[in-house]
Amino acid sequence: MERIMSGAYRKLLVPLCDPDQYRGLSARLAELEQFETLHPQEQAAILEQRTRSLLDHAYKTSPYYRLVFDEVRFRSVDWQYGQPIPLPELNRELLRANMESLCSRAFRPDELRRFSSGGSPPTAMWRDVEAQREKAALEWHLNRLSGTAGARILELRPADRQQDGDMSSLRPTLQERIQGRFNALIRNADDDTFWNLLRFMNRRKPEVLRGPASLLAMFAEWLRGCGMAWHRPRRVIATGETPSPESRQTVTETFGCMVTRQYVCPDIGILATECEQGERLHFHPLSSYISLAPAGQSSEGSIYRLIITDLLNHGMPLIRYDSGDSVLFDESPCPCGSWYPSVSAVLGPTIENLILPDGTVTAGVPIVTRASRSFRSVHGVQLIQRAPDTMHLRFSSDDNSGAADRELGVFRKTIEDAFRIPLRWTLERVAAIRGETSGKVRAAVCEIPQDEHGRPLKH
Ligand SMILES: [Zn+2]
Repeated sequence: MERIMSGAYRKLLVPLCDPDQYRGLSARLAELEQFETLHPQEQAAILEQRTRSLLDHAYKTSPYYRLVFDEVRFRSVDWQYGQPIPLPELNRELLRANMESLCSRAFRPDELRRFSSGGSPPTAMWRDVEAQREKAALEWHLNRLSGTAGARILELRPADRQQDGDMSSLRPTLQERIQGRFNALIRNADDDTFWNLLRFMNRRKPEVLRGPASLLAMFAEWLRGCGMAWHRPRRVIATGETPSPESRQTVTETFGCMVTRQYVCPDIGILATECEQGERLHFHPLSSYISLAPAGQSSEGSIYRLIITDLLNHGMPLIRYDSGDSVLFDESPCPCGSWYPSVSAVLGPTIENLILPDGTVTAGVPIVTRASRSFRSVHGVQLIQRAPDTMHLRFSSDDNSGAADRELGVFRKTIEDAFRIPLRWTLERVAAIRGETSGKVRAAVCEIPQDEHGRPLKH
């Protein structure tokens, strides 16, 4: 009862407190509900019209897209829903270099809202207010479908060292209190951070805990050994790469609740939620139009790069934006019956894929996370694959007692088990694992030359 009351309270108060996000929320939610009841053909007609109108809008009002459309002689009338949009891809580098000319001239500066992408380093992005409200409503709608709309949520966000804010951001603003949403920026997944999180969780009792799967798994393992009781949320939502079955089990057992997945593109926001029957991530078609570019093979199937057209941004249109993530795709219809586009797993950043001795490509982040599990004295590692059987391992540690060496031994053994061949290793102790020029710290890096499909080049 208390929850229902607090949900209604928020629904009334939230639009007043944050009109830029939530004005007209109830009407928008009703429209979304109506959309779900339509026949797939009626839905496709609406989606085609919306996508085409975004394409036209981009061509007419964004200098960047006018050039790009003209260069490949593309017009939206030549395109049908379900077909790829034949435009070149947009990526973060192009986005940063063309920020100004990407923005639509149809909006005055005061009609655009700046938001910071969740990528690293964060990039200033723009969205028109109307689309921002539609996006907020869609997120509310997706949360409602998964039974978490209006719930008190504790969100774990990995943060760069350079980024502002730290655990002190756990002191919520009034707005956060009303929305019941608390952000914890995590710089280091260490003891201090986890103690703070535990205290906060026990005091605020969030109903939902949400964050990248690898961070949730580390926190869960830490809780098991901390010797204190912890609050149990009623739902854990894993974002980022799909957790391994073992991590998922650890998280489920530790928090004693269901774990579901969401796909969140750092530059665009939440785009997909997991269905229970098929355990696939379905992209809501009102939010994005996705396409998949082949990027190699793995033992679990074909790997694709995820290319996204954001349908909820007319202020700075993002058409065929490379999410930077690779995914596994299963072309059979999902057992849940939904036609909404789905992927079976998010493998993590494409650039962090590793190449196994037989030439198959595998996601690097889950392998490194799994192998790092026993780290206590080692603060961080970066695995660099220089040849199919040659690895360079950067690590940081203050330990000189031999504990770090033992932990690194376990790490190397786990990697070799995954590769099923003996590997040649070089080790390098560094003060800290540094990010690239973009600021992004990569857990794994593949330096083997690859073709545009992610296949290793043969010499
Ligand atoms: Zn499904």
